[in-house]
Amino acid sequence: MARHALIAGGSIGGLFAAAALQKAGWTVDVFERTEVELAGRGAGIVTHDTLIDALRHVGADLTDLGVQVAERTAFDKAGGVVTVLPHPQIVTSWDRMHRILRRLIPDDRHHLGRAVTGYAQDADGVVAQFSDGSTVRGDLLVGADGFRSAIRAQMLPDVQPTYAGYVVWRALAQERDLPADVAARVFPTFAFFAPSGTQIIGYPIAGRDNDLSLGNRRYNFVWYAPADADALRDMLTDAAGHQHAISIPPPLVRDDVLDAMQANARRILPPDFTAILDVSERPFFTPIYDHHSPVMHDGRVVLLGDAACVARPHVGMGVTKAAEDALALAVHADDPAAYSAIRVPASERAYLRARKLGSWIFQDDPANADGAHNARLRDIMRLTAVTED
Ligand SMILES: Cc1cc2nc3c(=O)[nH]c(=O)nc-3n(C[C@H](O)[C@H](O)[C@H](O)COP(=O)(O)OP(=O)(O)OC[C@H]3O[C@@H](n4cnc5c(N)ncnc54)[C@H](O)[C@@H]3O)c2cc1C
Repeated sequence: MARHALIAGGSIGGLFAAAALQKAGWTVDVFERTEVELAGRGAGIVTHDTLIDALRHVGADLTDLGVQVAERTAFDKAGGVVTVLPHPQIVTSWDRMHRILRRLIPDDRHHLGRAVTGYAQDADGVVAQFSDGSTVRGDLLVGADGFRSAIRAQMLPDVQPTYAGYVVWRALAQERDLPADVAARVFPTFAFFAPSGTQIIGYPIAGRDNDLSLGNRRYNFVWYAPADADALRDMLTDAAGHQHAISIPPPLVRDDVLDAMQANARRILPPDFTAILDVSERPFFTPIYDHHSPVMHDGRVVLLGDAACVARPHVGMGVTKAAEDALALAVHADDPAAYSAIRVPASERAYLRARKLGSWIFQDDPANADGAHNARLRDIMRLTAVTED
């Protein structure tokens, strides 16, 4: 009889694990806490060759995966080009990635509205416990339940995400809404603006429903901005006065928080980027946290993706790391310790590399107020959103 894997979390990591284990002959059941399909959410993500290979391996349809950019361009405060670095890369959307993976999992193996709360195990298998009091028995339990993982909380209660002291503001603008001159300068490239103390990156992604036709694509705007613990607490407080713990749902971000961000944007950013913000859908922010786990297994239970380790987004590794975890798990599913031994050091490398890139943003350099005099600019452009140094 096929061995049975239970997967907590139906985002990219959980779906990748399910697809890879299915391919290796396992029966899988995916349990996602959210009540409705996750499709339609998220913003942009970058792809790497390893991610594309992993998608191919699990049998995903790679047709029209995303937008191909040829180069990276750094701009200064006045909007001038500081430097250009050839770097072909496909940039796509979280939604696109989720849809092509979701299609690989049969509907009767994909369960919405099922929150895993913990696990128990014995010599014969592992039992996943759910918030409604029910249990399901299997041969392997995969904790792909994100950076606030319930599985990790039981396995490694001391591993807690740490706030990095800054947030990322994201916004999506429709290509057709961009002023023509802004679109001509910024849209086709993977853009950077890297003055001392803040950083912008931006790139084109598909439009809704993976529309890649001219005019219907979107621009993905990403702005790293400092916010100390007090400022973050205020930003996480909604208009009703409720303070959210780690992140706040985008519609609940207060208007005055958005107004302050827009005012800062006008003060700090090149005019092309404020023009992009002006035509964007409501921007939203995510506080930057990271963590990594010293082990990724406990008996028949494994951690995968963000549940195991979050590398800050500078390395663009969230999806690719989850894919690499999933492929390694499919090979070593009968030996979780071997899986952990391979993936812990790989995850830690991404975590440390992302921390290094993050620290470069906040190195005080009065000579680089305009983004044109960043001594590390070419390294930042070379190392951002790639797999290894
Ligand atoms: C809706 C959504 C949109 C995203 N958009 C982007 C984006 O635009 N760009 C980007 O770089 N990254 C995005 N991410 C994060 C990105 O998916 C991850 O960084 C990376 O792909 C690793 O994925 P993961 O599956 O390990 O973790 P996550 O993507 O965080 O997924 C964890 C999943 O587990 C579910 N879950 C949590 N707790 C439980 C539980 N107790 N029981 C069952 N299920 C549970 C969550 O609902 C979620 O679906 C997004 C994540 C989500 C959930």
